[in-house]
This record gives sequence, structure tokens and C-alpha cells, in this order.
Amino acid sequence: MDVQRKLAILADAAKYDASCASSGTEKRDSRDGKGLGSTAPGMGICHSYAPDGRCISLLKVLLTNACNYDCLYCVNRASSNVPRARFTVDEVVQLTLDFYRRNYIEGLFLSSGIIRSADYTMEQIVEVARRLREEHHFRGYIHLKTIPEADDALISKAGRYADRLSINIEVPEEQSLAALAPEKNVRAIRRTMGRLRLKLDEAKEARTAPSRAKPPRFAPAGQSTQMIVGADAATDQTILDTSANLYGSYNLKRVYYSAFSPIPDSSRALPLQAPPLIREHRLYQADWLMRFYGFDAGEIIDPSAGMLSLEIDPKLAWALRHRERFPLDVNRASREDLLRVPGFGRKAVERIIATRRHSAIRSMDLARLHIPRNKALPFIVLSDHRPTPHLLDSARLAERFRPKAQQLGFGF
Ligand code: SF4
Repeated sequence: MDVQRKLAILADAAKYDASCASSGTEKRDSRDGKGLGSTAPGMGICHSYAPDGRCISLLKVLLTNACNYDCLYCVNRASSNVPRARFTVDEVVQLTLDFYRRNYIEGLFLSSGIIRSADYTMEQIVEVARRLREEHHFRGYIHLKTIPEADDALISKAGRYADRLSINIEVPEEQSLAALAPEKNVRAIRRTMGRLRLKLDEAKEARTAPSRAKPPRFAPAGQSTQMIVGADAATDQTILDTSANLYGSYNLKRVYYSAFSPIPDSSRALPLQAPPLIREHRLYQADWLMRFYGFDAGEIIDPSAGMLSLEIDPKLAWALRHRERFPLDVNRASREDLLRVPGFGRKAVERIIATRRHSAIRSMDLARLHIPRNKALPFIVLSDHRPTPHLLDSARLAERFRPKAQQLGFGF
């Protein structure tokens, strides 16, 4: 099989992994004439999309889509009737270099089905990264999937060459994983996440310690994971609780949420339909509320529903359930309270705090702060604005924010 055919199969097989963003690594370049490639910290370098709109950044491929495991939700599972292919280490290295030189990509995202054993598979993955870094002085971004059961020495080696490592937790609950991916073991996954955290902490400590020796390198962009949404009956509350636990326990950089895509010849244990993509989007919004807006996992979702609203964003939904906390005086409120106002982003809050030191915020300032007026005004007091009495108590307030019903077409 030629490399182009392998690439078609193995890039397609990799598209279901959503954890492809590449932020937060160290800055590297090759302007000194040595090496190849660069990274730009803080800049997303995902720039390729699958037909369903999912980001498939970088050169995102599997080493092989043959797999000993039989995870029901996976198109590459052992029992799946799909064409199989396998790259050699050399082929992936060469493709990465060729694509980089042609300006197609800025890095590599490499995963693999499990062949022979966890150690053998991990060895092959690590060898690609080693050759790129040591033999070709490749300085672009490398994200490697980590096989949870692989030997500790291999994981250390992976961290030496990769910018980011990730292990997919797959589904939020242990019993679902046991039913959908019987060969996978949630304890092994969590144990390896714990080992990664330890190595990341050690590397961080060594970087800040006053020593002349170069600190050991270990995945400067940290670790991440992915959860499939909608393959099992887990509620959004369960998903967010799991994410909060993962962020807290393993200091993950990101949890990615990937809406389940029905696959050919799938098991009856799986739903026939994909969940609405908006559910994935709402989970990302809720995730941001936890990481950057001071919300706890337990307060974002209406406890009686267990699911995020698909119609309105989670912060607005929270504000509508907690009207007793509004209207909030923007010229006096704390940063923590301002972050909870619908339509107020983090940058806007910082600019409000800087501006109000010398002048009061008025309604005409909202446009300059990129704050959507309609969303924010019912919840705030400004020097020239106070919401009409009873508006906050009105049952019709929530209706204002719901998307307008649309007339369905007749299909001709
Ligand atoms: S281990 Fe499971 S999820 Fe990973 S490639 Fe194999 S079947 Fe797919």
C-alpha cells in the first residue's frame, strides 16, 4: 500500500479525536539556522477541519488503525470492518517533515491503535518523536497520545520529546467504560495521569529552582484528555463533575468534549443518533466557567435538570436562576461578582475595573467593552441605567433570551 493511501486511511481514522488544540507550550524557533520548525505560544495552530466541522489540526494521524481492543464507540476497534493500514516510523517522520517544509502543517498529532502490546505501541510512537527531535531537529509542535498501560520509562521518554501528552478518559463513569471498552481500565488511565502530573510538577520545580544545570524537559504544554459526549447516558452534571475532578487531581490543561459520532456497524449498546453538536458547545462554555470564571461544577447546572440548557448559555441560565443576586452595580461590584454577569467576558471585567478607577461606567461604554447590551442590561446598574423595576422578577425575562422559533421550510 502506498503512503498516500495509508495517509487517507490513517488521517480519516484519527479525526474523531478532538483534543488537537496546541496552546501553552514553550517558544521555539529555528531562526538561528539550526533545526526545523517553530512554535508560537498562545496561538492556536489548529487550522484544518473535518467535513463535519470538527477540528483536525496539524498532521493528525494514527500510526495504525489496527487495534487489539474492541471499544464499541471506536471505528478502529478490532471487530470493525474498515480498511486497515499501518505507517512505519520512518513514513510518519518523512510525512511530517515534507508537510512542514511545504507549509501544510505546524506540527504533529500522533495516536495509534494498540498493536502487540501497550509497550510496543508506545515505543513506536515515541520513536517517531525522538527521530523528529534528535535526528531532524524538528522544533514544531508534537502532541503524543499516551497508552495508559505503557512502561514508566517510555512515558518519561515521550515527555522529553512531546509538547503535550494526553490520555483519553473516554466516558465519565467507570461502569460505562467497562461496558463500552471492556479492555480499558479506568484505574490504569487515572494512575498514568497521576504519573504524568508528578513528572510535570518535577519538571516545573526544576525550571524554577536556582541551578545552572538545564532542567529535564517534560511536556511543557502539559497533559489533556477527552470525553465522548452522548455515547452513554451520563448527564452533563456527571460530565462536569468528572472534569472538575480531573482538573483538580491531575492538573490537566484541558478536557476536550467530543460529541459521539455514530459509526458503521455499531453495537446496539450505542445510540443511533449523534447528540446535538450544541451540547458539546455548551459543555465547553461550562468548562470555561469552571476554569476562568470562578464557578463550581455543582452550581452551573440546574440540579433538577442535570443537563445544560441547549437554548441559552450556561452563565445566562445561572443568572436567571439566581436573580436575587442582581441587579449588580458595575461601578462597585467585586471582580468575582462581575465575572458572573451574563455577557461579561474576562477582558471586559478587567477593563471595567481599570476604567472605573477614574470614571464611572455608563451604558454607552458597553459597546467599547464589547458587552452585548441586550444580554447584560437587565442584570446591571450603571451610572445612567437601572433596569425597570420588576423586570428581573418577570417570568418573561427568560423568554427574551430564547432563540426565536423558526418557520420550517416546505422542502421545495
Ligand atoms: S484502544 Fe479502543 S479507542 Fe483506542 S483505537 Fe483501539 S478500539 Fe479505538
